Amino acid sequence: MTLADVLQMGKRRLSEAGVPEPEWNAWYLFSHCFHINRNRYFLCSEEIAAEENIKTFENLLVEREKRIPLEYIIHETEFMGLPFQVNEHVLIPRQDTECLVEEVLKVSEGKDVLDLCTGSGCIGISLAKLGKCKSVTLSDISGEALAVAEKNARKNDVAVRLVESDLFRDIRGSFDIIVSNPPYIRSKEIDELMPEVREHEPRLALDGSEDGLLFYRSIIKVINSFLKPNGWLFFEIGWNQGEEVSRMMREEGFHAVEVKKDLAGLDRIVQGQYRE
Ligand code: GLN
Repeated sequence: MTLADVLQMGKRRLSEAGVPEPEWNAWYLFSHCFHINRNRYFLCSEEIAAEENIKTFENLLVEREKRIPLEYIIHETEFMGLPFQVNEHVLIPRQDTECLVEEVLKVSEGKDVLDLCTGSGCIGISLAKLGKCKSVTLSDISGEALAVAEKNARKNDVAVRLVESDLFRDIRGSFDIIVSNPPYIRSKEIDELMPEVREHEPRLALDGSEDGLLFYRSIIKVINSFLKPNGWLFFEIGWNQGEEVSRMMREEGFHAVEVKKDLAGLDRIVQGQYRE
């Protein structure tokens, strides 16, 4: 089989399995197995493919046919231009979350930052790398997720503090900035998501209970003990949660509460500054 035949076989198999964007998915797995970029592929697509690489490629196709997300198959992704490892214990970092990080970066210099529900660590580690913060603490209820975050901190060569904690339960001290992308999907809506998400991403990272707002409510309720006066709170939210989360923050004494949009033009961030 030539390289072109192998790539063609991948596209066909993924398409038959109903995988969305089969061409792109096949290319991604193919380039990973054959260590090849577009330019090289165009030069040598008629060369005979090595048996060993074909085997590896076929094994990865089997996983993708089961709708395992690409990032879990390859075990890596990129966020804010930085490399992150992922596995099935953490949510795959989303591009929309980069908008949240961009907002925090505007005020992060010299600040003590807490990333609650850190998962892969993508938010806090990007801030530690790019945000000139004084300190960054990453926290998650899942020890398995924190192990991934720890590897990612090392990979990106940043110093962070890691705390295994159910929200604030084991957090000590107070912070200038608290940022969180908590689970915010309504429990009932999880079954309607694409199979990659509903069957393979951790439910713990998705499920925001009956109305999707449980974590915002729980965080805001005790924020007084953990956020310094004039400190900032940044949340990622679902597209229809802006009004409700802003209201909760105003009621708790936040000012300058603003809802910001993601690249698709949907409400994605709520931020505000705490009372003095
Ligand atoms: N903070 C991580 C992210 O934004 C994980 C979020 C989560 O598990 N809900 O990707």
